[in-house]
Amino acid sequence: MITKKLLILAGDGIGPEIMTQVQRVICWMAKKRNITFDVNEGLIGGASYDKFGHPLTDETLQDAFDADAVLLGSVGGYKWDNLSFDLRPEQGLLRLRKNLELFANLRPAVVFDALVDASSLKTEIVKGLDIMIVRELTGGIYFGKPRGIEILSTGERRGVNTQVYTTGEIIRIADVAFDLAQKRGNKVHSIEKANVMESGVLWREEVQKLHDTKYSAVELYHMYADNCAMQLVRNPKQFDVIVTDNLFGDILSDCAAMLTGSLGMLPSASLGSLNAKGKRHAVYEPVHGSAPDIANKDIANPIATLLSFSMMLRYSFNMSVEADLLEQSIKNILDADLRTSDIMQLGKIKVSTTMMGESLISEMNKLTS
Ligand code: NAD
Repeated sequence: MITKKLLILAGDGIGPEIMTQVQRVICWMAKKRNITFDVNEGLIGGASYDKFGHPLTDETLQDAFDADAVLLGSVGGYKWDNLSFDLRPEQGLLRLRKNLELFANLRPAVVFDALVDASSLKTEIVKGLDIMIVRELTGGIYFGKPRGIEILSTGERRGVNTQVYTTGEIIRIADVAFDLAQKRGNKVHSIEKANVMESGVLWREEVQKLHDTKYSAVELYHMYADNCAMQLVRNPKQFDVIVTDNLFGDILSDCAAMLTGSLGMLPSASLGSLNAKGKRHAVYEPVHGSAPDIANKDIANPIATLLSFSMMLRYSFNMSVEADLLEQSIKNILDADLRTSDIMQLGKIKVSTTMMGESLISEMNKLTS
């Protein structure tokens, strides 16, 4: 009997309905595999603002500290768009990431054979694609100071954000990337704009230094961010692991996302450093947002969240057998032509969020019977 403390924060929009499908898998594991999660549920984003007046309360943050892992749905929606910046749903997410010091965001972009036609790129360009983007998540321009909007003596307004990285921040994210590459294709592309930004020059020098001292057996390439965006759509299979900063990682991972056809298929993991007890804070969440345009219609694709749960099994709990089983079941139901509307194609079977979840459980039963 394994018991792990799991905090579920379903959030806003489609968050709760896709999280229900993960709950099915959690129940299945308790019943069929004797794996029990000690599940605690909390609020984040707009849902938390509505109840407590803040997108992430101190109590929920403490629950996240105490958990072995956090599984998050999504935050945001039209309803909260006019709140002041510090009370917006997204601030709950940023506070969680910052406080748990989740500096490493892992975003796999994998093309399932069954969905190869869903990509906007030609089949031969994306078939078999398997990229891991490692994005720095707690530094850079989204957090750097000075920041703000000021009024100049001329009456003009000026908006300021600051790109800033220390050597320590660069080394720890590069270390995650090299370590992952060793377990995959043994290749890292480090991305910055060293041609026009001093922070990029520092980034390049530190990544190279770490490579030369600790990871010289891993292939390392440096690439400018604009070239990387172009290469991602020209020849994405040249990449194995991409490591980059917060801003470029935000943009490039969404670009890589589209290679796979749908935001609804993309999981992510955000990891902190190993502490003295050997524990690493971790938040797992789909790449997509709260999709308010399709919320409460039972049509959202739950696969990104299910794959996030699978990453959690693999990276936080070392349950690779269960992660493999879940991923194989997802692959099988896609091979059986089941599709939510976002990945629907001619001749396939359109299913609801609920039906996708139920079919997954049937498949898991089949594979383990
Ligand atoms: P979004 O990802 O929510 O939606 C973009 C498009 O993709 C929409 O048409 C949506 O219907 C579709 N989509 C997204 N996920 C889907 C799924 N699982 N199944 C089927 N279709 C799906 O991005 P957006 O519209 O730019 O943002 C909506 C809200 O989400 C905003 O408030 C934004 O701030 C927030 N957001 C939150 C996160 C997060 O929680 N990590 C990330 C991005 C955006």
